[in-house]
Amino acid sequence: MAQQTARLPVRLGGIGLRPVAPSLHIAYFSAAALAAPGIVLLCPPDRREATFADHQHFGFTATVAQALDEVRRRLPGEHRLLPATMAAFWRLYGVQGMAKKLQSAISSQTDLKELQDLINGRETERADRQRLASAGSRNAGAWLTLIPRDPELRLTDKEYRQAMRLRLGLPVGENLPRRCVCNADLRKEPCHFFWCGQLKTNAVTTRHDRMVRSLAALFTAAGASRG
Ligand SMILES: [Zn+2]
Repeated sequence: MAQQTARLPVRLGGIGLRPVAPSLHIAYFSAAALAAPGIVLLCPPDRREATFADHQHFGFTATVAQALDEVRRRLPGEHRLLPATMAAFWRLYGVQGMAKKLQSAISSQTDLKELQDLINGRETERADRQRLASAGSRNAGAWLTLIPRDPELRLTDKEYRQAMRLRLGLPVGENLPRRCVCNADLRKEPCHFFWCGQLKTNAVTTRHDRMVRSLAALFTAAGASRG
C-alpha cells in the first residue's frame, strides 16, 4: 500500500514517484496524435482512407493501434480522447490542434483511475481510504513541492520522515512494540496513536500546550503584550 501510494502524483496524495513503463504508451499515442495533421497532409486526399487502413504497408498505423489498445486497457469504456478505431483516430487527430495537451489529459484520467482502484480495492482498509482521501485533498501535498523561503518554515529530517510515514501509511516509528497500552495491534493499525482512546487525552493536551507556547512566543517576538 505504501509503494502504491508513493507512485501516485502529489496532487492525488502520493509523492510523485511515477513509474515510466505505464506512461510509455500514453506518450507514444499522444505524440502520434500530435504528428497526425502533418502525416495526413503528406498523403493525397483521394488515397488517404485506403493508405491509413492498410496496416501491412503503413505499419505506423498498426503501432499506434497497439499503443491505443494499451492506453484503453488502463481506461476501459468509452472515452472521447480515445477513438474506437484507427480510422476514427485519423479523422479526430488529423485536424490541427486536436491533440493539444493530450498526454496530460490522458495521464490525469489514468492517474485518477489508479487512485480510485486503490481506494475501492477489496483489501484496502478503511483507515487507508481515509488517509488517501485526506492526503489527496487540496493543498495537502504543498509541503512536498514548495521550497521554504524562511529557515523556520523548514522541516528537519526527523519531521520530514514522520510526515512522509504518515502520508504513506507506514508505522510512526521503527521497532514499535507489537501492542499499544490499550492492547490494540500496532501492526494492523500503524497510525493507531492518532485515535488511541487511552493516549489521546494526554497527547491532545500536550499538543495544545505546545501550540499555545509557540503562538505566545510569536506574539511576544512581534511586540505584543501577553496580558
Ligand atoms: Zn492504544
